[in-house]
Amino acid sequence: MTAQQTPGRQAPEERAPGRRAPVQAVIFDWGGTLTPWHSVDHAALWRDVCALHFATELAERNATAIRAAERELWLAAERDHRSATLDHVFQRAGVAPDEAFLASYAAAWEPHTLTDPGARALFLWLRAAGIRVGVLSNTMWPRSAHEQIFLRDRVLDLIDGAVYSSEIDWTKPHPEAFRAAMAAVGVSDPAGCVFVGDRPYDDVYGAKRAGMRAVLVPNSEVPAYPAAEPDAVIAGLADLAPLIEAWQAADGWRGGERDGQQRADGGPWPGAIRQIN
Ligand SMILES: [Mg+2]
Repeated sequence: MTAQQTPGRQAPEERAPGRRAPVQAVIFDWGGTLTPWHSVDHAALWRDVCALHFATELAERNATAIRAAERELWLAAERDHRSATLDHVFQRAGVAPDEAFLASYAAAWEPHTLTDPGARALFLWLRAAGIRVGVLSNTMWPRSAHEQIFLRDRVLDLIDGAVYSSEIDWTKPHPEAFRAAMAAVGVSDPAGCVFVGDRPYDDVYGAKRAGMRAVLVPNSEVPAYPAAEPDAVIAGLADLAPLIEAWQAADGWRGGERDGQQRADGGPWPGAIRQIN
């Protein structure tokens, strides 16, 4: 097979100078990116949930302990990029939640988890263009919680691979988190991946350091990180398809033809990308 038939498999040194790899995968952050940004009062949320399941005094004690444990574990994630889970939170807080408590917690979050209404059309466009769709989220929630949200919002079937930090040892911006996401979508060259996120440090700096292109969808409450230099800044997900299309065209790649090319792992692309000039 010639390099022209399998552009995604070219080693970087084989590419013409200045030409970027074709975009083979777009990997999305979740909170504030695939789901519009909401400011959530976490302490109040835990108080409301605990009030449904414990007597007044115990509810107050448990809510305070859970919130403190959650904060400590998020601070550890920010400092050391080590992941944690909801189980870790409850263990640290000395609270043993039952199914009804967890259901109330999920219900309390429901208004804040709605997927961007344009996500399904965007994912369909990406897949038709031969580009895989991935998710990489810093989260303490289990995969099942995220998949229920994606199923509810009719996008789960369009996600080729997802990594939730609750399932691995690391959080963004650690390179291992990005490597895990690449493996999940079946792409081996980070230069063929575009990461889309709302956090300059976790998402943009992390993705760039991992060798990906990074697109920032800024929201006002996320702290800046001067060393993070996105390849593009977009106002919302609706701006992503035109951006990718322009990048592919500028670099001479065209996607969407199902011409039998194969991924490195032997599976078919949703639609192969090929060189047009
Ligand atoms: Mg985010």
